[in-house]
Amino acid sequence: MLRQPLLLLSRSDKVKNLVTAMPVSSGIVHRYVPGESTDDAVEATRRLIDSGLHVTLDFLGEDTLDREQADATVAAYLDVLAALSEHGLARNAEVSVKLSAVGQALGEDGEKIALDNARTICHAARNAGTTVTLDMEDHTTTDSTLGILRELRKDFPETGAVLQAYLHRTEADCRDLAYEGSRVRLCKGAYNEPESVAFQERHEVDKSYVRCMKVLMAGQGYPMIASHDPRMVDIAGALATRNNRAQGSYEFQMLYGIRPDEQRRLAEAGEKVRVYVPYGQEWYGYLMRRLAERPSNLSFFVKSLVSKK
Ligand SMILES: Cc1cc2nc3c(=O)[nH]c(=O)nc-3n(C[C@H](O)[C@H](O)[C@H](O)COP(=O)(O)OP(=O)(O)OC[C@H]3O[C@@H](n4cnc5c(N)ncnc54)[C@H](O)[C@@H]3O)c2cc1C
Repeated sequence: MLRQPLLLLSRSDKVKNLVTAMPVSSGIVHRYVPGESTDDAVEATRRLIDSGLHVTLDFLGEDTLDREQADATVAAYLDVLAALSEHGLARNAEVSVKLSAVGQALGEDGEKIALDNARTICHAARNAGTTVTLDMEDHTTTDSTLGILRELRKDFPETGAVLQAYLHRTEADCRDLAYEGSRVRLCKGAYNEPESVAFQERHEVDKSYVRCMKVLMAGQGYPMIASHDPRMVDIAGALATRNNRAQGSYEFQMLYGIRPDEQRRLAEAGEKVRVYVPYGQEWYGYLMRRLAERPSNLSFFVKSLVSKK
């Protein structure tokens, strides 16, 4: 019930100003975001890798409105990729990029700017010995993002895609992307989408998620099962067995700070588990989407806001 208002609030400047006055170290923010700097990101990455997990790093920022901001985002990715390489972490840590953060929405040239910027990041990732995954944003960007993915994969076939099970179109997109070498992250979807394009009921989204997993697990690609839902995790395991997939020919992905015990349990059982680690100053939109998924965290959030610790 609270999901929609919280997602709407994520677009409100007034609330944003109030909330972002909180330091990143305050309880609720820190639970989901380890810090704002490259050093914070590298430190969190090292800790996770030491405990047997893999990482994908997301430099927070979306809806970039000018060229300079897009360039600054690219520079942040180049910086963190160099740091991962320097610290010997690149084998187990990649980066996730939102195309809106690197220029996709900058008018008529937006797609070209985003493609050029994504290419620069893919180059740096390859030089560092790792990969890039393109996050998926709201449904108005899906075609554009998949188009840019297709272009990037001509030179960087290792680039990961993300598909959202709540969209009606996604089962068909899974079929298109289940080819050899194709890395596909399947998530439920985090945006506020209309019923013309997306399933609205939880159980419908879950059923779609299972149909999509079936396609990806039976296909030739590399499925990345991004969910904290215990039922989805169990079904993924069963589908891997049914399709004779060895551990490591697919992976589980979860968000930093969510079900960390389950992340370790799966890794200890021999599964490949990757943790999505967001960092940077622009944590507001990300935090609001996480609260929308778990409104029971709201009281914790309000307490953090009031005490401003
Ligand atoms: C690695 C990764 C990458 C993602 N990338 C994208 C992307 O590119 N685009 C996109 O639209 N979405 C993305 N998402 C978000 C995703 O779409 C969902 O919004 C989110 O993962 C919640 O869905 P769920 O599958 O975990 O299931 P849910 O049914 O929402 O949750 C299942 C259980 O997980 C736990 N849980 C879930 N969320 C929270 C929370 N915020 N706090 C505490 N516990 C929680 C609870 O125990 C809950 O009962 C990503 C998710 C992951 C894990």
